[in-house]
Amino acid sequence: AEEVGGGDKEVVREYFNNSGFQRWRKIYGETDEVNRVQKDIRLGHSQTVENVLKMLKDEGSLEGVSVCDAGCGTGCLAIPLAKEGAVVYASDISAAMVAEAEKQSGEDSFRCGECNHGCCTYTSTVMAKEQLQAGREKVVMPKFEVKDLESLNGKYDTVVCLDVLIHYPQSKADGMIAHLASLSENRLLLSFAPKTFYYDLLKRVGELFPGPSKATRAYLHAEADVERALKKVGWKIRKRGLITTQFYFARLVEAIPA
Ligand code: SAM
Repeated sequence: AEEVGGGDKEVVREYFNNSGFQRWRKIYGETDEVNRVQKDIRLGHSQTVENVLKMLKDEGSLEGVSVCDAGCGTGCLAIPLAKEGAVVYASDISAAMVAEAEKQSGEDSFRCGECNHGCCTYTSTVMAKEQLQAGREKVVMPKFEVKDLESLNGKYDTVVCLDVLIHYPQSKADGMIAHLASLSENRLLLSFAPKTFYYDLLKRVGELFPGPSKATRAYLHAEADVERALKKVGWKIRKRGLITTQFYFARLVEAIPA
């Protein structure tokens, strides 16, 4: 596969194995050790995950559906998808993120047979495992792997890539979108930080106060650019969603072959 990340990719890998890992593990986790901004981002991100699950389930049951979660992070989406019965392959460029995702999936490997769709909060920590095993179905957790999305291959019914494009400029994102589409047979869900006037302005203000690491640099993407990249490889957008909290902005699109 073409090297689409270039220098950026190495910086991103390094970041998500070190300070980025510490930061995002907290944000994507459940503990109280988050500040106000991080808490808000946690909320926004969880809404994105909920929206994705809803978009996917709207088209029918996920039981047995193969899903590739590219750039899976700590497994926030991959694990609930597995609980829905999807056959999930999840990968990330960061070994630290993948190790955390594996840990999370180990701690949370049963689903409640009452609702049978992963929405309830009964986990192995709430109910005894024996009790769950007795009357409830065992979840087949995702297969996790350390791999950058550019070198993924195979075919999946559905490919999902959430909040990853933000780390790459549009010139790199084009190739990433094309590659993700080539892995998918039926649908591709992407979320990215939309390049709207308001958000562009916020980001510019942010640039006046640069953080210590340039890996925290965020790239915004115009929806039209993402749409154009999809069109170039024969895909079109079927559904759109917008998730905004005070500090979190994500455009969610579901694309299908045109
Ligand atoms: N998708 C996850 C979620 O929404 O919970 C994680 C989002 S996090 C902001 C971005 C993730 O993308 C990080 O875990 C990072 O390591 C991963 N990542 C960045 N560039 C990548 C690449 N080229 N290939 C695979 N993963 C990548």
